[in-house]
Amino acid sequence: MLNCCYCEPTTVAEALTLLAEHGDGARVVAGGQVIALLLRQGFIKPSCLVSLQSVAGLDGITAEQRGVRIGAMVTLHRLGNAGNEYPTLRALSEAAHTVADQHIRNRGTLGGNICGAHPASDINTALMTLNAEVTLVSTQGERMVNLHEFLAGPFTTTAKPGELLTEVTIPGFALRRSAAVYCRFSPRAGDFPVVSVGAFVSLDDTGQCQEPRIVLGNCLGAPTRATEAEQRLAHRNLLEDTRSLTEAATLAATHLTPRSEPMASSAYKQDLVGVLTRAALTEAVARALEVRP
Ligand SMILES: Cc1cc2nc3c(=O)[nH]c(=O)nc-3n(C[C@H](O)[C@H](O)[C@H](O)COP(=O)(O)OP(=O)(O)OC[C@H]3O[C@@H](n4cnc5c(N)ncnc54)[C@H](O)[C@@H]3O)c2cc1C
Repeated sequence: MLNCCYCEPTTVAEALTLLAEHGDGARVVAGGQVIALLLRQGFIKPSCLVSLQSVAGLDGITAEQRGVRIGAMVTLHRLGNAGNEYPTLRALSEAAHTVADQHIRNRGTLGGNICGAHPASDINTALMTLNAEVTLVSTQGERMVNLHEFLAGPFTTTAKPGELLTEVTIPGFALRRSAAVYCRFSPRAGDFPVVSVGAFVSLDDTGQCQEPRIVLGNCLGAPTRATEAEQRLAHRNLLEDTRSLTEAATLAATHLTPRSEPMASSAYKQDLVGVLTRAALTEAVARALEVRP
């Protein structure tokens, strides 16, 4: 029998006070999907569950000069459609569409998926591809952290006790001809991906690639940048030198040793990284070129 209080604050300030009062004993509940499993299996024994379901102001999506801000309680279902309205979110929508099934997407939230920090999270891989920042708030104040620094390892983040993730900011694309793509592979529909890849390219007026990003999901404990592959693309003219895409995909596959799983060996994952990276980069370049001057 669970001996713990269940609170439904209606403002962020009330939620933060509850988190501060209960310290390590408090757990945030968003969609409740992961929390419910952890409670049922006895992995956590909180003294207080703080639900965000009634907290006002956490479910908006707004475009501002700094970028697109997405509230922590936006559902994955809604994220799946957001790319139609906000073009910079297209890859994130692709990722949200692939999560599990409609039931999970209806209930699961952006904040819950990020803070759950699953190594195979579709959302975290796509968000890192988009260079997302998370906003963390506590009774001590507010800070913004790049998602790359927020995700510390499998099921672990650098959130401090009492901190609430309130929103995510996706910066705008600096160059007009920019695009991101998210690809994943799983043998069965509805499963977490065996491997996923996010690719972002940005082409200047001459076709030179500026600040590319390639992010690999479910290879290590958290989504990982393929930096050697990125370096191979940086400042290359991708309109003339299409071999670079294949070379970058090969580097992405060979410069890390993915962790093995019962259903997928490390070598198999490396092969998948190569194939998916090539596909994601090719599609990203094609999309970037679709953008009219
Ligand atoms: C059967 C199944 C299949 C799934 N398949 C996939 C998949 O293919 N791809 C994928 O990416 N995901 C998948 N997921 C994960 C799913 O997307 C997440 O469970 C869901 O998004 C978690 O969101 P939630 O709102 O239910 O979080 P909750 O369960 O409420 O919370 C999760 C964790 O985050 C913390 N938390 C939640 N919100 C905040 C906040 N705002 N600030 C601070 N801490 C917070 C909670 O305390 C808890 O530790 C799957 C889950 C299930 C159950």
